[in-house]
Amino acid sequence: MSGPRLERPGVLAPPCGAGDRNFPVDHRGQQERPHAAPPRAVAQAGAWRVSRTLRGQLVLPGGVVPGELHFGRTLEAVMPQAEAPQDVFILPGFVDTHVHGGGGGDTMDGPGGIRTLARLHARHGTTTLLPTTITNPWEKVLAALQAVREVMEAGGVVGGADVIGAHLEGPFISPQRLGAQPAHTTLPTPDRVAEVLDSGVVRAVTLAPELPGAWEAALTFAQAGVRVGIGHTRADAEMVSALLDAVHSAGGRTCATHLFNAMGGIEGRQPGPPGALLADPHAFLEVILDGIHVHPTSFRLAHAAARGRVVLVTDAMRAAGLGDGESELGGQPVTVRDGRATLESGSLAGSVLTLDVALKNAVRAGIPLPEVSRMLSAAPAASVGLTDRGCLEPGLRADLTVLDRDLNVVQVYVAGLPLLENTP
Ligand SMILES: [Zn+2]
Repeated sequence: MSGPRLERPGVLAPPCGAGDRNFPVDHRGQQERPHAAPPRAVAQAGAWRVSRTLRGQLVLPGGVVPGELHFGRTLEAVMPQAEAPQDVFILPGFVDTHVHGGGGGDTMDGPGGIRTLARLHARHGTTTLLPTTITNPWEKVLAALQAVREVMEAGGVVGGADVIGAHLEGPFISPQRLGAQPAHTTLPTPDRVAEVLDSGVVRAVTLAPELPGAWEAALTFAQAGVRVGIGHTRADAEMVSALLDAVHSAGGRTCATHLFNAMGGIEGRQPGPPGALLADPHAFLEVILDGIHVHPTSFRLAHAAARGRVVLVTDAMRAAGLGDGESELGGQPVTVRDGRATLESGSLAGSVLTLDVALKNAVRAGIPLPEVSRMLSAAPAASVGLTDRGCLEPGLRADLTVLDRDLNVVQVYVAGLPLLENTP
């Protein structure tokens, strides 16, 4: 392969720390197929691997620039150039830290369901995800964690997104703020926390801070490297802020579990969990940007108050990618109509969102593409401590999502391997 190399053999610090400017993107112009040179096999360290080249508009942390990528399993060179196809946008692959299901599969189904959802979401640009459990009887929750472990130990999902651990959403949540979670809540006792940590796969957890034992559990999770999510809670702002401070002081990472949903609202005298989470300088903030869960103005508020900390998630259930009809969530019947998933009670039952749609919704809300890309890749990766992916930087994994001028996904690469049929 020719051309300059910007090799970076090891990644010691979180990537994606470049500039912070806005670069509005004009999506008009002629449509072109992504330019991809045919792959070549080259020898490296005695093994054969494929080296690929992609040209287009590179969506970098500081802006969108024309250029070229060379990559195998990792990105080998990221080279800005004077000219490149105008209507091809190359982004780091999306990272979904909160996804229950998709394509008919659900995390609670076992390994088969996890593989199904990982493949469905990969077709929509997600290259890394955390299968997410739902509040269920304890043994079922543990079984779901074992299923995630089984998938990971088997080497991941062929043709799917990289599974890098589980998000334990419930059962350590408020019975008064269930949202669509079934009423199988339980307390985060030290024994239960130890049991879920023993699975070795929990990478994010959702806790209601007001539960007895939640504070100790949060610190235990933080010390184990697990992102502590605040959600499904009736806590007040003071309690949330205090817990965030404690976790950050212990070196842990925090996040709002679907900001604004299942946690009350913001008022001047009662900022509630959303106020505490927005005001904290370190907490990441999950947002379900499906046009149903969060108003576009609330989303813009989050972006303005918490630049770099917003994490777009799907919270998708098994019906994602299947269209309208009858479905299921955590053992409860769900109806999907006009893209809205509801329980019999009328409560929202997760979403049928995919991250490519979330991207379009964010752009439609007026957020520049590099900022949206950060919400889809760098921020979620950082929120769960992933330092080997999240932006287009030499040395990082070649997880790539390629969009056309209308921001439709046309190509996806996971660790350099093409996933879509139309990927060269
Ligand atoms: Zn959820």
